[in-house]
Amino acid sequence: MRIYIKDIGPDGLELKKSILEKDLGLEKLPGIVLNAPIEIQGFVQKKGDTVVLDLTFKGFFSFECSRCLDEVERIIEKDFSLEYQINRSMLFIDIIEDVRQEVFLSFPEKVLCQDSCRGICPQCGINLNIEKCQCHKNSFQVQE
Ligand SMILES: [Zn+2]
Ligand SMILES: [Zn+2]
Repeated sequence: MRIYIKDIGPDGLELKKSILEKDLGLEKLPGIVLNAPIEIQGFVQKKGDTVVLDLTFKGFFSFECSRCLDEVERIIEKDFSLEYQINRSMLFIDIIEDVRQEVFLSFPEKVLCQDSCRGICPQCGINLNIEKCQCHKNSFQVQE
């Protein structure tokens, strides 16, 4: 994702871009799917030999519930700023690596489909939000 320095005028530059899943390398993250291109919006300014970007990204993701592995859809929105030192010989800056970092850092550590998610039975694998299983009963019987 290149921003050409000549495009940053004295009044700055409005930035609006989309990022696709393949640009983020999201296929490397199990359990996370990008449902639509991530929208990046913001403003770029040149201050001396520094380029300052104030940006927001918005992405529509699917995560796996940490307990039952069901799909959980979430919209994540985050403001962030980036700064780059430039010199006369530079034609552009490439922000994709830093944007990728910001997106990855915004992912919640744990996602639950609902606070009261009952998860999956470790014995029979049934989703306990949908069905009840007999495992607990059976293990009781074995103990008796
Ligand atoms: Zn769940
Ligand atoms: Zn069970």
